[in-house]
Amino acid sequence: MKAAVLTEVGSDLEIRDDVEVAPPGPGEVAIEVAASGVCHSDLSVQNGTIPLPTPMVLGHEGAGIVTDVGADVTTVKPGDHVALSFVPRCGVCQACRRGQPYLCETAAMQAAGGMLDGTTRLTSGGAPLHQMACLGTFGQTAVVPEISTVKIADDVPLPIAALIGCSVLTGVGAALNTATILPGDTVAVIGCGGVGLNIIQGARIAGAERIIAVDQFTSKLDMAKQFGATDLVNPDDGDTVGQVMTLTEKGVHSAFEAIGLEATIMQTVDMLRPGGEAIIVGVPRLDVMLSFNAAFTFLYLNKSVKGCWYGSADVHRDVPKLISLWQDEDLKLDELISREISVEDVNGAFQAMESGEVARSVIRHSH
Ligand SMILES: [Zn+2]
Ligand SMILES: [Zn+2]
Repeated sequence: MKAAVLTEVGSDLEIRDDVEVAPPGPGEVAIEVAASGVCHSDLSVQNGTIPLPTPMVLGHEGAGIVTDVGADVTTVKPGDHVALSFVPRCGVCQACRRGQPYLCETAAMQAAGGMLDGTTRLTSGGAPLHQMACLGTFGQTAVVPEISTVKIADDVPLPIAALIGCSVLTGVGAALNTATILPGDTVAVIGCGGVGLNIIQGARIAGAERIIAVDQFTSKLDMAKQFGATDLVNPDDGDTVGQVMTLTEKGVHSAFEAIGLEATIMQTVDMLRPGGEAIIVGVPRLDVMLSFNAAFTFLYLNKSVKGCWYGSADVHRDVPKLISLWQDEDLKLDELISREISVEDVNGAFQAMESGEVARSVIRHSH
């Protein structure tokens, strides 16, 4: 089968058509991948922000059709349509049992770049190929853990389901699950890419009255407005925190950071009103450190800083919920898909993402 492979950090992805796929093992499922979003986290693996082993088939935001199942698989069968979760969810570990399946302990195995047992089901030229997030949706076929699949109805378009698997769950989840947004609140979102746009629409669904979008690309600010932003702030027009303070007088109730930079994380904390919360969603490099004045930040101004991993989502609760919000036209998903591409165009999609041209490029695999 054909797949886009990262051979070493910093290089363009290589399109290989000699990738061999082993049959699914116990608790594993083979998927004909129909669609995969090209997410900033794929780029972060390519440029080394997220360190993972190579060679690796990237792609972790996908959906497709089950073609084969290994032993002991009970929840899906060949022919089922599934969205893929980039965090497996075992249902029995301590995190899963206390309602935090996004922190499922099995996910630690993903750092090894294979399946849950640490081995990979893909080879190319006789050598093993790693799979990002136990998935690897930049390949036409993926073998994935059963616990990384979420069955969906056959009439949900697979490109839509693909986006739900990462950017939509992360962004909308950050607003609806991680944060506490009350109707009438004022919210700010720094970084209006695929995740940021979903935070904005999540905040709108939560009832925020003012949603301030912050981005240096006017193209992204235009999209932010379409997704529900009421005020637009471009850092090129002056100090970001100053601009937000001018708009709000006392600051915002919730501020989201969806880039992963020290400077913008600090801005989210600085733009909070007393009692406000900063939600950190972006993926920082491993060496980013933060420094706060403890007394003012946490005590006298009573701000809080919350981490957000995978939108604090429970995929079996939230995927159906997001699909139904989309069906009710409360959630814009079609508008997220700026262009559909073939896997050969994935390096161009990375460039388009870096230059702020697109919300999402979605790979449609041929079969
Ligand atoms: Zn992603
Ligand atoms: Zn678990």
